[in-house]
Amino acid sequence: GHKLEEVRVILSGISVKSSGEAGIAEEIPETGNTLEENVFLKANFVYRKTNSPCFADDTGLFVDALNGEPGVFSARFAGENCTSHDNIVKLISLMKNKTNRSAHFKTVICLVKNETGNYFEGVISGSISHEPRGTNGFGYDSVFIPEGYSKTFAELEPEEKNSLSHRAKAVKKMKEFLK
Ligand code: IMP
Repeated sequence: GHKLEEVRVILSGISVKSSGEAGIAEEIPETGNTLEENVFLKANFVYRKTNSPCFADDTGLFVDALNGEPGVFSARFAGENCTSHDNIVKLISLMKNKTNRSAHFKTVICLVKNETGNYFEGVISGSISHEPRGTNGFGYDSVFIPEGYSKTFAELEPEEKNSLSHRAKAVKKMKEFLK
């Protein structure tokens, strides 16, 4: 998907395969209660099968007025087989009368290499808009306004979002580590 492309651009010079390209067909378990647990489960699962350095990422949107929800459950916020649209509708509705709009995205990456898990984190602070705006990006992009901006992630140019995002910050830390 386009997440992998985003990561490949940042890791330029380092060859990256998706789990599918590495020959993994199984559904990879994502049963943890924290981003840290999930990334280790995923990266270690693939490491065990391939014996090559592997990394996995997991992201959550943490909303202060909702006590950190949806957090690690961001993908399934509106239910097991829900769409991003369903998640946004639920979020906007829960936030309807909230004056504290603060939220942050957090990405955790786990790189498993030589039997060791190495963790890298990226956070971006911002706020939740009152209604969805913009058509770029994916997920919660249309309702997240990064701090210092007035546009949502979905109204920014993809290059701009990808240069300041939570995921970009985490991937850049891993790149430094690999150098
Ligand atoms: P995942 O860890 O990439 O599977 O993402 C978990 C949830 O967060 C999914 O609902 C994604 O749509 C959402 N998400 C992850 N990254 C972003 C982002 O950069 N912008 C908006 N939503 C995101």
